[in-house]
Amino acid sequence: MKSIEQFIRENIKHLKPYSSARDEYTGRDAIFLDANENPYNSPYNRYPDPLQRDLKKKIAVIKQVNPESIFLGNGSDEAIDLLIRAFCEPRVDNIITIDPTYGMYQVCADINAVEVRKVPLSESFEINAEAILKASDACTKLIFLCSPNNPTSNSFSKNTLADIIKNCNSLLVLDEAYIDFSAQPGFLADLDNYPNLVILQTFSKAWGLAGIRLGMAFGQKKIIDVLNKIKYPYNINFLTQQKALESLSAETYKTEWVKELLDERNRLAAELLNLPYIIKVYPSDANFLLIKVNKPVDVYNYLVDQKIVIRDRSRVSLCEGCLRITVGTENENDVLLKALQDYE
Ligand SMILES: *Cc1c(COP(=O)(O)O)cnc(C)c1O
Repeated sequence: MKSIEQFIRENIKHLKPYSSARDEYTGRDAIFLDANENPYNSPYNRYPDPLQRDLKKKIAVIKQVNPESIFLGNGSDEAIDLLIRAFCEPRVDNIITIDPTYGMYQVCADINAVEVRKVPLSESFEINAEAILKASDACTKLIFLCSPNNPTSNSFSKNTLADIIKNCNSLLVLDEAYIDFSAQPGFLADLDNYPNLVILQTFSKAWGLAGIRLGMAFGQKKIIDVLNKIKYPYNINFLTQQKALESLSAETYKTEWVKELLDERNRLAAELLNLPYIIKVYPSDANFLLIKVNKPVDVYNYLVDQKIVIRDRSRVSLCEGCLRITVGTENENDVLLKALQDYE
């Protein structure tokens, strides 16, 4: 494994970052005449902490990691974009990902003119470690894997993932957006054993906070420092930091929601299997179900007419005939099931 420095783009390595007024003083009891803020309208008049120290302290306790191994972004999407911009030279370097998977890795790479090498999953959505390692070369800087994977809803075997992390010659970004719903533990507890590993998690799913836009990246300090160096100075606004702190102090809500959603997922899966036109309900380790039907677009449009919106994934690789359904409340799932029972 090369050192992290060798993966960083030259211009980023030598970048002198923007220094914000508040970097120099962290106390709260001073008279702040340094940032041209309006002295009225407290607390919204002040720029937020650029390094979100209070929030990271709290996340560090819950996730049992060092605050210095945490990067916070405007959604996981910001972390994905910054990782590509920090490590991939446009038109030279490449990233590897699996197919099908979350679309943002490709979009961010395309925006940055970085080649994407897609390694297909098997028909049963298993990952091929050998093919991933074979697809990489000296210009591969990042491998993006997602487990539990979207839209296939399955998790990959921990041994296989560990194999890829250990044997690849790049950084490995493991997107664990759905890890709270998974029967398997993620890799966060093993972070220190894998110097090239970056783990993405989010407040958008289990924590019920998609609206505040807050994503987490975990990795060794050297990697996190690079992301902090190139982010917008105040990327996490005050309201988001405040709301996240509040939610972290009431973690039992999250725990209860996850428990209920898993019960509902299992009920929904069982009920969907009873419908004759549903060919398959894929095993899910997340808060959504992937199902296969004969005429996915007809089912999709029928549900839209019933004012129920699901996701048509039938044009995605290996997902012919597939629809993706998010697990809702008990009542929402009842309405969905009733509509599907009345179909045809
Ligand atoms: C929903 C989702 C996310 C969350 O993205 P945010 O920008 O944090 O809302 C990340 N990765 C995957 C695979 C997802 O499905």
